Amino acid sequence: MQLKSLRDMSVTGRQVIVRADFNVPLRDGKVSDPSRILAALPTLEYLRNQQCRIVIITHFGKAKGKVDPAFSLRPAFEVLAERLPGVQFASEVPGTPEAIARSQKVRQGDITLFENLRFHPGEQANDPAFAADLAKMGDCYVNEAFSECHRSVASLGQLAGLLPAAAGFQLEKEVKYLDRILQAPARPMVGIIGGAKISTKLPVIRALLEHVDYLLLGGALANTILKAQGVAVGKSLVEESMVEAVKDLTLTTNKLRIPVDVVIAHSLEPDAPEQTVAVGNVPDDQLILDIGPETVELYKLILQQAATVVWNGPMGYFELPQFAKGTDEVAKFVAGLSATTVVGGGETLDAVNALGLGSNITFASTGGGAMLKFLEGKPLPGIVPLLQNA
Ligand code: ADP
Ligand code: MG
Repeated sequence: MQLKSLRDMSVTGRQVIVRADFNVPLRDGKVSDPSRILAALPTLEYLRNQQCRIVIITHFGKAKGKVDPAFSLRPAFEVLAERLPGVQFASEVPGTPEAIARSQKVRQGDITLFENLRFHPGEQANDPAFAADLAKMGDCYVNEAFSECHRSVASLGQLAGLLPAAAGFQLEKEVKYLDRILQAPARPMVGIIGGAKISTKLPVIRALLEHVDYLLLGGALANTILKAQGVAVGKSLVEESMVEAVKDLTLTTNKLRIPVDVVIAHSLEPDAPEQTVAVGNVPDDQLILDIGPETVELYKLILQQAATVVWNGPMGYFELPQFAKGTDEVAKFVAGLSATTVVGGGETLDAVNALGLGSNITFASTGGGAMLKFLEGKPLPGIVPLLQNA
């Protein structure tokens, strides 16, 4: 998959709209994880060095089509301003006449971050008229919002179709690593899928089974598969409506692996005492909250041989330390491999970063949902217009 690259677009001195993803987590009004903002810096610095007039647009939070100060981009702006001195903030809502007028005042080498795209109803309605108004804010377009590319919103697919468009450096990297997993991975390739819900991850599990040499499962989603196999799972988190749909995920090939032992407890209380049992020995009044040590050892033996690893989803309820061992052990092992390691998912990266292992991963994807959709092999609406032959 070849994307139109920013390096091949003539941008010098032009007015460039950068669609970023500054939808970052906040704690007490401050950005608690700036990774997505930092990931856009190489593109912004490149454009500034090219003397571009730079207009940044992005959404933030669950704003509902009208101005809502609770979802202002100011906290994100503060982080950006620390890294890019001189960057300006425009409180005008993108696409409005006021914002278009303001965008015309941006000078060469200047960067202006505009207010939240979702303050306008046209963004999520994927309104072509809104996209046309956004297009008036610049004369070319750079997509640096991989994590939003699975959504059909005006500022992505539509806007890219209206102006000369290219992929930002981070987006280009995301696609390079994920596309290689689907097209030409170094083998053996091992997939690891965990996390909360089998319903959101079943499509990617099925798609990965076509590509990987081994697929290791953990997390709450494995409970539903165990249940479908007729194994007792006590009062574990199970998606009953999915039990039928996963019955065919059997272990008759040795590609798919599910836990052989699990860590259980009576409840999710912080001081719940835990216990390790073999799969099949979970009492009715207990929940599965992590993979057990034997499973960890089995998974390590498989990972040991890997030339490529792709991982999304924690192995257990890692928010409590007594159920974090499976996730932590897998994270440490993956980080220590010389294989190409690609890791994504909000909680998965939280777990990896909490161990200080972020820099030991070959590539951390900024896109949780977008990464899953990409690996499912679906065309992403934000990326289709950036394809070389589009
Ligand atoms: P990511 O954001 O990395 O894609 P998910 O959102 O799919 O991951 O899932 C993460 C959540 O799954 C975590 O909050 C974790 O506590 C939860 N989880 C994982 N395993 C279990 C389990 N056995 N029981 C309950 N919750 C679990
Ligand atoms: Mg999550």
